[in-house]
Amino acid sequence: MRIDDHPIISFPERETVTFSYEGEEVEAREGETIAAALHNEGVVELRKSGDQKRPRGLFCAIGKCSSCLMTVDGVPNVRTCITLAQEGMEVEKQNGFPEISSDAERLEPGSIATKVADLLVVGGGPAGLKGAITAADAGADVIIVDENPFLGGQLIKQTHKFFGSSDQEAGTRGVEIGEELIEGVEEHPNIEAMKSSSAVGIYEEAVGIYRNREQFLKVDAGKTLIATGATEDMITFPNNDLPGVYAAGGIQTLMNVYGVKPGDSVLMVGAGNVGLIVVYQLLQAGVDVEAIVEIAPEIGGYFVHAAKIRRIGVPILTDHKVLEVEGEDRVKRVRIAEHDGAGETIQGTEREYEVDILALAVGLSPSYKLLHHAGSELKFQPQLGGYVPERDERMKTSRKDVYVAGDVAGVEEATAAMLEGIIAGADATIELGIGGKAEDELIAEARDQLKELRAGPYYKELRENLKEVQT
Ligand SMILES: Cc1cc2nc3c(=O)[nH]c(=O)nc-3n(C[C@H](O)[C@H](O)[C@H](O)COP(=O)(O)OP(=O)(O)OC[C@H]3O[C@@H](n4cnc5c(N)ncnc54)[C@H](O)[C@@H]3O)c2cc1C
Repeated sequence: MRIDDHPIISFPERETVTFSYEGEEVEAREGETIAAALHNEGVVELRKSGDQKRPRGLFCAIGKCSSCLMTVDGVPNVRTCITLAQEGMEVEKQNGFPEISSDAERLEPGSIATKVADLLVVGGGPAGLKGAITAADAGADVIIVDENPFLGGQLIKQTHKFFGSSDQEAGTRGVEIGEELIEGVEEHPNIEAMKSSSAVGIYEEAVGIYRNREQFLKVDAGKTLIATGATEDMITFPNNDLPGVYAAGGIQTLMNVYGVKPGDSVLMVGAGNVGLIVVYQLLQAGVDVEAIVEIAPEIGGYFVHAAKIRRIGVPILTDHKVLEVEGEDRVKRVRIAEHDGAGETIQGTEREYEVDILALAVGLSPSYKLLHHAGSELKFQPQLGGYVPERDERMKTSRKDVYVAGDVAGVEEATAAMLEGIIAGADATIELGIGGKAEDELIAEARDQLKELRAGPYYKELRENLKEVQT
């Protein structure tokens, strides 16, 4: 269902395109993904899992998981959450493992085109965009790739005013910060931006890119900046794979980017800042929120966000956990209970909520796979979200031509991501012999701002984890 009336976002009328889903015609707005258009039509089961044939629906909505794989124009395993609906497309549900047609076209290695750049940036979120602009301002030729149909990363759906450092745009809505950065990249003469383009492997001589579902490319760059962000986490409970169990950020994408209402009523899991903010945004979109379930004894997010939610009348149930989700082909009911502090259910405290959405805001893990492929040394640091690369003070990994910035280097905030992007982009140009004193000064300023941002008792563990990966 479309969101027609929203206090902050306006969704202008757009041209429509028509595609077929299982032989039926579906109308989508131009610039909308297949999965968003199907959700709008009430289709939430997008495929059946490989071996068990269990129903699967959208989860992350930004191309990071495999929940939304469908067959499009005969090509199996297409991530429909990041593939735009196009006129005449034929979309089919996958019922178990798909088959690859025996006459599928094979690529000859010599037929793959190569592009050359000083710097390749993988990931067009705040870290990658700042890195690209900084390097391009210094005179470097930059290519930036992002596998989503839009640049901006997580920023394009953050309709709230940002917390963080005032030097890095705190108080401004995330979407507005994103728009400014995207404009900076798209209008820069030294930057080529390639959307709907996934980096699929990093080799000694080049990075492999799969572009627009039709073309393989090699990018041969002097330096590569990995700014692939983070993936939202799942937790274990029976039926956690049913359609209707969404990552909180996935819900944001549906509502705030595509203007599609994810469902009618929600139970949110996680009272950190992401859970609290997404609950507020669900209410803005006209979705009922029954409660927030938090396993910890205390709320993890900022007091100001929690107070706002409580004033509206949404209860925040600390020391509670999800027991199970019920439903055959989608979420119908969620059972929760209070626990004794050690995770054991306190008998008699069980309760049920009749909801069609269970939203999970239970943390993020860095998207480190390309760094692993590149051979950069990784370390497990829980306070940074999981496996993160070792890096020097200028964001260079143990593989000397590969830099990192943003959530993939440790899950923090957009402010930290942008500052790390500046440091990585500037140092890459110095190492390439393009940048100089001005870039050195940018690095020093950004490092000072990062130090200030991470000061204070709240960031003690983060600082300790960061020390472990600093070389
Ligand atoms: C609900 C919510 C509220 C938030 N509120 C705030 C706030 O108030 N203040 C604040 O400072 N921060 C906030 N944040 C955090 C902030 O959005 C993130 O820290 C920030 O976006 C991280 O930036 P990034 O560039 O590292 O990654 P992302 O923004 O995640 O961007 C990564 C990009 O990389 C692309 N990508 C990944 N893999 C590939 C690949 N193989 N090939 C090509 N492209 C790839 C992705 O498509 C994506 O666009 C919030 C986050 C959430 C979810």
